[in-house]
Amino acid sequence: MKHALLAPSAAHRWLNCTPSARLEESFPESESTAAAEGTFAHHFAEVTLQNFLHNKNEKCEENSYYSKSLEEYVSVYTDCVIEKYVQAKNQDESAECLIEHKFSLTDFVPASFGHADAVILSNGSLEIIDLKYGKGVPVKAQNNSQLRLYALGVYAEMSFLYDIKTVTVTIVQPRNGGISSETMTIEELLNWGEKIKPIAQTAFKGEGEFKAGRHCQFCRAANLCRALANYNLEKVKADFDNPDLLNDDEIAEILTRADDTIKWLNSIKEYALSESLKNGKRWTGFKIVEGRSVRKIVDAEKAAEILKANGGEDSEIWKPKELLGLTALEKNFGKKKLSEMLAEVIQKPNGAPTLVSESDPRPEWNNVKNDFDEEN
Ligand code: SF4
Repeated sequence: MKHALLAPSAAHRWLNCTPSARLEESFPESESTAAAEGTFAHHFAEVTLQNFLHNKNEKCEENSYYSKSLEEYVSVYTDCVIEKYVQAKNQDESAECLIEHKFSLTDFVPASFGHADAVILSNGSLEIIDLKYGKGVPVKAQNNSQLRLYALGVYAEMSFLYDIKTVTVTIVQPRNGGISSETMTIEELLNWGEKIKPIAQTAFKGEGEFKAGRHCQFCRAANLCRALANYNLEKVKADFDNPDLLNDDEIAEILTRADDTIKWLNSIKEYALSESLKNGKRWTGFKIVEGRSVRKIVDAEKAAEILKANGGEDSEIWKPKELLGLTALEKNFGKKKLSEMLAEVIQKPNGAPTLVSESDPRPEWNNVKNDFDEEN
């Protein structure tokens, strides 16, 4: 799918770092396996909803990304859309549901357009529902610039047909974060649109200041971006009070940046290796060597035959039959069905203590309770 230079899906980036979109132009787009699976999940959702809305019976289970668990996760989103559409239709006979709806955003963002996963229009309200299939980073609907831009684009196109007073944007992220929504009046949405207009103009021209932050994740320029490198290294270079030892506040400060900095360093290592392998690039002071490898048997049947001929017993040769892991079983049977079927034999042990930011939604680990649990 072709994206606009200032695509809504990257708005959190170009709104924060206005020169980023033009800088990214010089780096090729690539699609990871996770992204390809996400693309199929959207296609599966589209087919399911079109089947429901237009009484069709199209199938797409042949695709290599199809699994029972994907179907189950996607159904959290499709059920949500269907429920909201039926509710809207009950209140207003003229309510309409549009799937994978393409719209223009040029009233607010130069040369921009987007595709909304699901749009429900009725007199009085507009709702945008977005499926996020990723499980790495939870995404919420509150203050979400991508969904607000979707709403602005659809409103600009449809306001002559429907008298829209409130706008709700909803994100359904079945594998992380669940369902979240934000509702605002149309005036609030339009005011926000006016506020971002000059920022979008600056971003379109590639002007303004580079500004690094959380939004740098997925920026195609990230491996070579100087602003991001400065941002990641500034914490360790800062002038600390005690020149010899770090104090508690400084350790805490470093911890807040640790995960992002580790990700960034690993990404630089991957980039450097791939440049050497693909383009023969040499980095001063580094060379490519063969990594550690382990011996392996290339023909299991033949090896077993030889061992048997030499007096080996089956139990000495073959592994005992082994159950597939939970993830593989979920793929085959579906997550919900599997937890129902295996309720009595699935256990979730306590996780090892992990240091995370205070904003993490998990309850604090209780040292006393865990000691007590162990003793009893
Ligand atoms: S990596 Fe971050 S700072 Fe650098 S261009 Fe991209 S968004 Fe801007």
